[in-house]
Formats: sequence, structure tokens, C-alpha cells
Amino acid sequence: MLDKFNREIDYLRISITDLCNLRCIYCMPKDGVKKLSHENIISIERIEEIVKEAVKLGINKVRLTGGEPLVRHGLAEICRKISAIPEIKELCITTNGVLLSQYAKELKESGVTRINISLDTLDKDKYKRITRGGNIEDVFEGINAIKKEGFKNTKINCVLIGGFNDDEIPSFLKFAHDNDLSFRFIELMPIGEGEKMDRSSFISNSKVIESLSDLVKVEDDGVSSLYKFKDGRGSIGLISPLSHSFCEKCSRLRLTSDGKLKPCLHSSLEIDLKDKHGEELKEEIKKAILLKPKEHHLNQDKKSSSKRLMSEIGG
Ligand code: SAM
Ligand code: SF4
Repeated sequence: MLDKFNREIDYLRISITDLCNLRCIYCMPKDGVKKLSHENIISIERIEEIVKEAVKLGINKVRLTGGEPLVRHGLAEICRKISAIPEIKELCITTNGVLLSQYAKELKESGVTRINISLDTLDKDKYKRITRGGNIEDVFEGINAIKKEGFKNTKINCVLIGGFNDDEIPSFLKFAHDNDLSFRFIELMPIGEGEKMDRSSFISNSKVIESLSDLVKVEDDGVSSLYKFKDGRGSIGLISPLSHSFCEKCSRLRLTSDGKLKPCLHSSLEIDLKDKHGEELKEEIKKAILLKPKEHHLNQDKKSSSKRLMSEIGG
């Protein structure tokens, strides 16, 4: 379905839990978040019901995110139910990768088509610091495990943080090329815990562009501006919500871990789907599409920006 600004809205991102096994400093409070009560966390049946109504309005791609989607009980069942819906062409997962080696096979068998892995450094000690305790070897094992299962077009998402990982840009490029992966740099956003980060941590993706002279600019991939290595192995994407607003290409709706629909990641606007079913539920989803703002105001307007943690919305 088209929104008011002629954008085709065909992509639903679902935060299936706000809990996580890591505590990335820009995303999660040090002591984690209070567990939602059983009745407040979106149920498997409810996820299926919402997706089934959303496909009637043109949604054909779903991404499961979180918190960490791999810590959610019943993840494989959620995947099986969504992938069984004929209109769904793509079912993707965004994960920190720590538990992937355990679940790669089950995810493949449950109909997951693609996996994105978040990784902000290639250094063991820095990884421990940024995630407050994670073991980078688990992520490398996860990357190998999904390769073995035959997952294709894997993307690594890396939040670029001034003074933390901007010195690793050449190593990230080499990693993408050596492993024939798509490596995407995401600008740090002042949302939730991200708002508490030092000003110097917020740097523009133009810092990466300086290192891309040997690559070829190709057609954008959704909100990501894309560069390829000349020999065709691997690619580099830049997702720049702050320095280059990509709102005109936004095709997404977001469902929070407590069942609210968000027309925009950065806006406080939410639609509560509670007690809505069938035609009424479809109308609420339609309302969310029509309420999508033209663009976010992350650089200016703090009042109308989302007060939620990134883990509740799913990034
Ligand atoms: N736990 C999973 C993971 O880390 O991939 C999925 C959820 S996480 C919230 C989704 C994405 O949001 C991750 O790539 C993470 O790096 C990104 N993210 C979280 N907080 C952010 C912030 N303040 N600015 C930019 N990206 C952020
Ligand atoms: Fe967890 Fe992902 Fe947030 Fe890191 S970015 S704390 S892995 S939800």
C-alpha cells in the first residue's frame, strides 16, 4: 500500500523481545531492562495474526529483531508461522550472532531467508567493552555456521562510533572482501541509551567514504547507499540517518515487543493494536501507514522523538 507520500510500504520489522544477552553501551542500560509480564509481551499467535492482516495491505517482507531475537522462546515456531504465509517473500533476522551457531540449522529449516549480524569491532577486547561482556569468538562461529547452512547475502551491521571503531575502517573493508560479505556502516543515533553517548562518538559516514576510492558506487539497496569491490567479492553499505536522511526511501512499519505499531523509528507516534482483530486490525495497520511522517526530525525536534529504548523498537 502507498502512504501519503507515495512510498510503497511493504516491510514490517518486529521486535519479538526487548531482552538481550548483551548490553551494548549505546543500546541497553547496564543492568538490562525490566522483563515485560507475560501478558504484555507480544505472543506468537498475535504476531501471526498481525502479519496475516498486514500482508493484505501489501507487506511482503518481515524482519525479526529485538532485543536479541535468538533469546525469545518459540523463535523457530514464529519463523515457521510467518514463512508459511504465501505472500511473505522474505523473512529476515537481525541478531548479535552470539547464539547463531546453536540455532543456524533450525532457522534455515523454519524458513528464514536472510540474516544480518551486528558487529561493531573485530577486536576481542573492544568487543567485550562495547557489549559489556560479549565474546567475539561466538559471533565468528555464528557467521561460519550460517555460511555452512547455505544462508546467502549475509550483512554485517556496524555502528560507527567516533574514537571507538573509526580506526578500524580499513580492517572492516578487508573483512568484507575476504569473507565476501556485505558490511554496512550505520551512524550512531541519539535514541535511548544512545542519547547518553559523548558528542565525539557521533560521526558521519562520510568518514567511511574517504576509504572507498577503490570501490565502485552501485545502485542503492533500500536505505543503504552501496559500494562494490571491483572483483565482485563483498560490498560496503552506508546507512546515514543523520547526515543524509533516507526517509524518502523508507518502506517500513515497526511492531514493538509490547504490540504497538510505530510508523517511524524516530517518532513517539504509536498505534495500540490491543483488542483489535480482523477487519478492525487491518484498519489500524492502514492508519499507521497513512500516519507515516514525511521525514524524521532527529536532528532538531527532541519533543516528538521516541522515548523508547532501541531494544523495544528493534533498530
Ligand atoms: N540484538 C540484535 C542486534 O544487535 O543485531 C537486534 C536488535 S538491535 C536493537 C538492532 C540494531 O540496532 C543493531 O545493529 C544495533 O547496533 C542497532 N542500534 C542499537 N542502538 C543504536 C543506536 N543508538 N544507534 C544506531 N544503531 C543502534
Ligand atoms: Fe542487545 Fe542488539 Fe542492543 Fe546490543 S544492539 S544490546 S545485542 S539488542
